[in-house]
Amino acid sequence: MNTNINENKEELVDSKTLSLDQEWYKLSNKKICSVLETNPETGLTDREAKIRLEKYGRNNLPKSKKPNWFVIFLKSFLDPLSLIMILSGLVSGLVAITSQKIETVDITGLVIISIIVLTNSIIATVQEVKSLNQVAHLNENKQTAIVLRNSKKTEIDIEELVPGDIIFVNSGGFVPADTRIIDNQLLKIDESALTGENEPVKKISDSIKEQNLMLGDQKNIAFMSTLVLEGKMMGVIFGTGQDSEIGKIATKISSHKPEKTPLERKVTHLTATIGLASIILGLILFLTSFFLLTDENSKTIKELLVISVSAAISLIPESLTIIVKICLMVATKKMAKKNVIIKNPKSIETLGNVNVICSDKTGTLTQNKMTVDKIFIDFKEMDYKDFEKNKYKELINCITLCSDAIVEKEKIGSATEIATIDFIKKFEIDYKKMRLIHERFDEIPFDSKRKLMTTLNEVESRKMVYVKGAVDYLLDICTNKLINGKITPLTQEDKQIIQDQLYSFAKRGLRVLGFSQKDITENKEKYESNLTFLGCVAIIDPPREEVKASIEEAKKGGIRVIMITGDHKITAFEIASRLGIADNNFDGVLTGQDINELSNEQLKERLKRTNVFARVNPEHKALIVELLQEENNIVAMTGDGVNDSPSLVKADIGISMGITGTEVAKGVSDVILADDNFKSIISGVNSGRNVYEKIKYSISFLIAANISQILTLLLILIINKDIALNSVNILFHIFIIETIVAVPIGMQKERRGVMKNPPPTHKRESLLKGITLQIIITTLFNTLFAVLNYEIAILWFGSDAKEFAKTGVYIAIMFSPIFYSLLYNNFFLPIKTTKDLKEIDKYRPNKWLLILMLVAFITTTLTLIPIETINEFFDFKTKGLNPILAIIFFINSLLPTVCIYLTYKLILKFI
Ligand code: ATP
Repeated sequence: MNTNINENKEELVDSKTLSLDQEWYKLSNKKICSVLETNPETGLTDREAKIRLEKYGRNNLPKSKKPNWFVIFLKSFLDPLSLIMILSGLVSGLVAITSQKIETVDITGLVIISIIVLTNSIIATVQEVKSLNQVAHLNENKQTAIVLRNSKKTEIDIEELVPGDIIFVNSGGFVPADTRIIDNQLLKIDESALTGENEPVKKISDSIKEQNLMLGDQKNIAFMSTLVLEGKMMGVIFGTGQDSEIGKIATKISSHKPEKTPLERKVTHLTATIGLASIILGLILFLTSFFLLTDENSKTIKELLVISVSAAISLIPESLTIIVKICLMVATKKMAKKNVIIKNPKSIETLGNVNVICSDKTGTLTQNKMTVDKIFIDFKEMDYKDFEKNKYKELINCITLCSDAIVEKEKIGSATEIATIDFIKKFEIDYKKMRLIHERFDEIPFDSKRKLMTTLNEVESRKMVYVKGAVDYLLDICTNKLINGKITPLTQEDKQIIQDQLYSFAKRGLRVLGFSQKDITENKEKYESNLTFLGCVAIIDPPREEVKASIEEAKKGGIRVIMITGDHKITAFEIASRLGIADNNFDGVLTGQDINELSNEQLKERLKRTNVFARVNPEHKALIVELLQEENNIVAMTGDGVNDSPSLVKADIGISMGITGTEVAKGVSDVILADDNFKSIISGVNSGRNVYEKIKYSISFLIAANISQILTLLLILIINKDIALNSVNILFHIFIIETIVAVPIGMQKERRGVMKNPPPTHKRESLLKGITLQIIITTLFNTLFAVLNYEIAILWFGSDAKEFAKTGVYIAIMFSPIFYSLLYNNFFLPIKTTKDLKEIDKYRPNKWLLILMLVAFITTTLTLIPIETINEFFDFKTKGLNPILAIIFFINSLLPTVCIYLTYKLILKFI
């Protein structure tokens, strides 16, 4: 870029009185360089930069203080559920303390509740700290900037930038520090991060004389963290880090607190509702037992109170919020392995809900490995091999000079340009030398709105304008053609021939790029008009092999895939047909021009029938998202360019491309695809749906186990006027089942089968939808066998065997959930066909489930050791228990699993 420093004779500020908090916009370009002791031609020296770095500090924003783990730990006790538990513990403790004789059993309630609350808080703290670290890690991604140092352009970490550094920023980049612009080309900057103003600001490079300008009016300043939307700039840095405008307010921006996801909120709501129900239930239990229990088997009111409180809290699925956190963390990690980088766990849920995916074509659906296949020159189609380098010098000049691609060991630039330079290199043309000889004086960069790129170069002492781009756009600005070295007017018939050729290429799925030129040595006129059409190249960009299957999978899962591309409509339709996006259910292609001619209502109607959108601008993308959302769709949108930001933000889930995406697109998106591949989006959707399913399983498992326990207690109370479980039993049940057995349900393997059903609609759907049958069947059998154990003991050994009967209830209540937790690991699927049933049978339980099942099994078995003190502690008797009765108790705790499995299968067969 040429530096064009303005000499301003009337300096507004005397250099001696300048300090670093001056009004920089008033200074002339020369003055600002002299104040900052820098040279726009050479930049700072490394030595000087080092000194300044020490003096002014690193160019980073104040980081938000990482919350202390201990504070997080303390805060976790403020959770409403923990509060209910703590309150219950206090009631039990108080009862124990106010008793005349304190027994170990009485304080056990308090001890067990404390263990549960502590365990939950520790897990919650670990998860919270992990997720905060994850967010912090995301923010740690190093950013670089191009800077002039020791007369050379180099790329350095933005934290090393200092006042006086000369920097260069192109469209799509962030401004790394507060900078006075000293040269620019068609520069437009989005300053919304700083000023809240959404309109892009056109920038200038001259000094401004007015006084007291607001930030938004300082047109020659580029502020730190704002985005270059169009054009490019060169500038001198005057404010870094905390001295920058954004640095002054950065504490506001950097406070990054992971918010509660909708699913987490729903779970909290559910647990709170159950919490309320539990209080009512506790009251019922207390009153029933109080009135039913006769004197002879009576317990003290205090004992009844402790049991009722314990039973009430046992209904609450305390571990649910933790399971949700674990599910989201596990999914985020798994997805990163599958090239889907989730910036906020909230996005996992939304991904699971998506029912429309709007995808780019190039790179996402196609391989982005572009190669020139055919050429259209002298109004003839030819194979690329037949190209003659001595005959088509003009086309070679245009391809080489009107391009920024670098094709060496490493290929830098857009895939389209790389393809054309690759092609030129096949004919041993030294494109780098050509660019050196024919200096570029000016340029208008490519943008997806104009679909053109223009340069001004000196070629053989003449000033040549080269324009390349989409042929249909190029034809509108061409008035001549070059055939066999002769320039003649471009007639309507000529245009028709070119359009026909374009159609023919596009029908073969080829991407076409046209080239033109004009000589402006004598007449200075607008670059993009009166051009001479030189010819075009047709580029192959094959669809990605794996994408077709992914699209099929998406369709089966009730997800519609829409292609939105800047490419030609016939090319787009051809590729869409090959991939199964444009099928019999949908008609035609809508172009950006068609969209302009339709009203929003008409477009909404057409959107129902159209799956391919071609030659669209970024504004059209945003409109499409908006109209789809108005129809209650949950929309995912992919994008890579700066201009895609509005649609990425507007979509329910914005997906940017890790390889080809600009920093801006990555910055505003919710998800980044590390491999740019459409297939990864479907993997993400699959993970999202699995999370939802696992959480539902956990809810179902916990509710069934908890209700069974209370139902058993109530039934035996009514039938036998006995309290079958004491507070220690109840609380131990919570400890083993909630804290040990339920957790691995959230860690189980992902199931591909979720993609066979329509997406869940979290917004309206109750968390209990689809799991009520599981809850009813499980509760029924669990309760039935627990009560049966009690009754068998009484029937067999008479009412004196109450202590043994209670052992039976304890065994059933504890062991049944341990066994049937196996079923909750991918057994309760939304089964529709017999094929689905086969999928279940293939299932192997996860390692964590087996380990934790074993831990739970051994711990529970230890409580059954026939030692009097242990027996007393648990308020049952295993010492002297009839071995046959013991075997029956165990069989009865296994039977619920078998019965649940068979009944569920049977019911589903009938459904
Ligand atoms: P998608 O939105 O699916 O990524 P795309 O990459 O084809 O589609 P654009 O990048 O907007 O969309 O390109 C649109 C058209 O502009 C292309 O068909 C091509 O003719 C032309 N084009 C693409 N890249 C360049 C470039 N670097 N210079 C000039 N013209 C280009």
